[in-house]
Amino acid sequence: MMSWQDIFKEKLAEMHVTEQWTLQEDDTLKAKALSPHWKEFVQRRALGRFQCSQCCHKWTSAKVLILFHMRQCPGWGIIQMRVFRQECRRCPNPQLEYPEFSLETVERILHNLVVKILQYFYNKPVQSSDLLEVVVDIPVTGPHDSARCEACRLGICNKSRQAPALDTWKAWKALRDAWKALTDADKDRTQHTKSSPAPECVDRECLLDADGSLKRQGSGPHRASTHCPSPCSSNFPWKRCCCIGSSLLFVLAMIIFFVVYFTRM
Ligand SMILES: [Zn+2]
Ligand SMILES: [Zn+2]
Repeated sequence: MMSWQDIFKEKLAEMHVTEQWTLQEDDTLKAKALSPHWKEFVQRRALGRFQCSQCCHKWTSAKVLILFHMRQCPGWGIIQMRVFRQECRRCPNPQLEYPEFSLETVERILHNLVVKILQYFYNKPVQSSDLLEVVVDIPVTGPHDSARCEACRLGICNKSRQAPALDTWKAWKALRDAWKALTDADKDRTQHTKSSPAPECVDRECLLDADGSLKRQGSGPHRASTHCPSPCSSNFPWKRCCCIGSSLLFVLAMIIFFVVYFTRM
């Protein structure tokens, strides 16, 4: 069976790195704690299989994290590696267990490591597409058990989720701003009901168009609302109807957005 070191050497040769690089395990490695000249690479979302050393319970996690620190010296280089462990959820006093990886997973992790070495120390331009997804070859069910994950306890496991969370916040803010503008437009209309009902309708269409998801979810019912007769032509409470309809569309869009977002995760 090939060791990590053997596969690492193969990957270096494949990617034409001729200098000698050594891969060492170091369980004391800390994320973001780098001495000068050292670089860091964190491989997230690797698929690992665990077995409890006490009760033999087996589990699989798609969120195994591997931390690499690397440094180049003239003619050679060194890599320190830490694989983060997880605990059994069935045992009252569990030990942290190391994962096992498939050969394909190790090959992909080390491919990514060599790509980062080329980027950091050999000035090779690297695209994000050069990094391989560390394949999830079997379905993994259930949420990540943060309480039993060593990397989570050290606060480095969930950092990959910050970017999507930020996107969610931005999307939420955009929707909120659109909604605010919409209600402001309603307020304006109460002041100019008789002078300019038609331009207000146009504004509303633009606001909804600005957000694709809102438009997709609401284009049908919304179009009906744009065809409403001028508010000045009857006593029917069109403003109230449009307002309630817009509110419902907004809530529906938010629900669908969050459902899609969380199922995708
Ligand atoms: Zn156990
Ligand atoms: Zn974790």
